[in-house]
Amino acid sequence: MTQGDFNRKAQEFMSGRRGPDDLASLSVWVAVVLVIIDFFVHTGWLSWISMALVIYAVWRMCSKNVYARISENDAFLKALGPMRPWLQSPRRAAQEARTYKHVKCSSCGQKVRVPRGKGRLRVTCPKCHEKFEVKS
Ligand SMILES: [Zn+2]
Repeated sequence: MTQGDFNRKAQEFMSGRRGPDDLASLSVWVAVVLVIIDFFVHTGWLSWISMALVIYAVWRMCSKNVYARISENDAFLKALGPMRPWLQSPRRAAQEARTYKHVKCSSCGQKVRVPRGKGRLRVTCPKCHEKFEVKS
């Protein structure tokens, strides 16, 4: 079997399947962390949990019920809330926190992103169009 054959076969296998998503990759990461902890602590059961997490991740990637997997992943991302960018891309989240400040609209509570270090800014809320001043 040549490399091209293998790629085609792999593509055929993955068509109609979702492949890795956030929930699957987080499962794998948690599994890796558990294996490392188990390496030092030697509990035994931690490696079983990490094995189960890897199997769960592989099952997610190969599942043909794509819509169910998408809604699970969306629910998971929603549950993360403000933690989400820090888990998905810690580097970008840190960059974002350095460059921008998030303030709440005084009238409707909508979150607004303003650049940092620009002195007092006059902000117009994109949702309710209320104008307010923030120290950036
Ligand atoms: Zn508002």
